[in-house]
Amino acid sequence: NSFGESGLPSEVLECCKNFNKPSPIQSHSWPFLLDGRDFIGIAATGSGKTLAFGVPAMMNVLSRRKGKIAGKRNPLGLVLSPTRELAQQISDVLCEAGRSCGVQSVCIYGGTSKGPQISALKSGVDIVIGTPGRLKDLIEMGVCLLKEVSYVVLDEADRMLDMGFEPEVRSILSQTCSVRQMAMFSATWPLPVHQLAQEFMDPSPVKV
Ligand code: AMP
Repeated sequence: NSFGESGLPSEVLECCKNFNKPSPIQSHSWPFLLDGRDFIGIAATGSGKTLAFGVPAMMNVLSRRKGKIAGKRNPLGLVLSPTRELAQQISDVLCEAGRSCGVQSVCIYGGTSKGPQISALKSGVDIVIGTPGRLKDLIEMGVCLLKEVSYVVLDEADRMLDMGFEPEVRSILSQTCSVRQMAMFSATWPLPVHQLAQEFMDPSPVKV
């Protein structure tokens, strides 16, 4: 219930310096996500869910990258978001959070030229935040390689499926590392979301 209690390194907690204590979704998710468990959060926007999955994403990247120098590398983390606006919001938060701990994120979304997104991917990033359509395009072009991604977040999963992105989501998930940790956030818990979780997550994820 306090940032100190979380045991997280100060360079990772730098992004929380303006907050008094972890929000409920953060204090309920961090112990499990930091422990490598799959996690389902029924949480609305405004609950602080971006850092609920974002802080463990930073920790995951830092522990897997160990002392390795940045540079050309494949992404280790992936966040899927239904809309460009939400993807950009998440990206803003994760880019800021990554500044103090050396974790780089890129935002991939449609409706804009691919060039800068391709350049960012080629120069090497740790976390990809993206909308399903454009991300699938870049995967098919061979410029976004997800085989090393072992930390996956589906944000607003219900909205993503409502918008008809299920085929893209499935195709993208199947490109990630088969040994992976997954976190799913959804405002509601309809059958299609439940089925997706059953298929792609651990048989007994933590549900909060
Ligand atoms: P989110 O649900 O991630 O979009 O976050 C909603 C708002 O809550 C954002 O403006 C965050 O900066 C803020 N926020 C995130 N974590 C905390 C916290 N532990 N305490 C207070 N506000 C927070």
